[in-house]
Amino acid sequence: MELIFATNNQNKVGEVKRILKSQFEILSLSDIGFTGDIDETEPTIKGNSELKADFIFKKYNKNCFADDTGMEVESLNGAPGVHSARYAGDDCVYSENVEKILRELRGVKNRKAKFITVITLILDGKKYFFEAITFGKIINETRGSLGFGYDPIFLPDGYNQTYAEMTHELKNKISHRGIAIQKLTDFLTKQE
Ligand code: IMP
Repeated sequence: MELIFATNNQNKVGEVKRILKSQFEILSLSDIGFTGDIDETEPTIKGNSELKADFIFKKYNKNCFADDTGMEVESLNGAPGVHSARYAGDDCVYSENVEKILRELRGVKNRKAKFITVITLILDGKKYFFEAITFGKIINETRGSLGFGYDPIFLPDGYNQTYAEMTHELKNKISHRGIAIQKLTDFLTKQE
């Protein structure tokens, strides 16, 4: 089955393709010739996930899914949340977001954080949602060079490695997006 993944983030495409293996042909937005940006204007992670899937379905009328992820830090009252991508400013890079969080948490005892992913699938015109949360904490410095985004400072509960120190396989097995994609896969497999 051909499925459009409404993203141009090649890190995410790589993660998802590794999970879905050969069961589905995943096409990214650049694979279908869409290189623009979809503005994430909703105030919630679920809202932005739905907005991206809606946008692509309306434009191409094809089965598609979109994910939206945010990291919420308890002692920052849930920030960066929906602003995770541009926390340090409009054109910021991942390392600037990471530095901002580390700065804000300097001397702060409560380091609890969580990643939330919501996937919206539009299949034959019907909409389905899949959500997953991974709990963990923000460490005091960056560790590891794999992954992307906040991976080097996020230590998932029950593990001694940050997301950025884990193999792709382990991150996918326990991560917010990995688990949400697994739920999506289980659902899609049952449809066949
Ligand atoms: P998006 O809106 O789903 O693209 O995610 C927003 C931001 O959250 C990204 O730009 C990253 O900074 C961060 N993010 C999303 N997924 C991950 C992840 O798996 N690890 C670390 N950071 C992530």
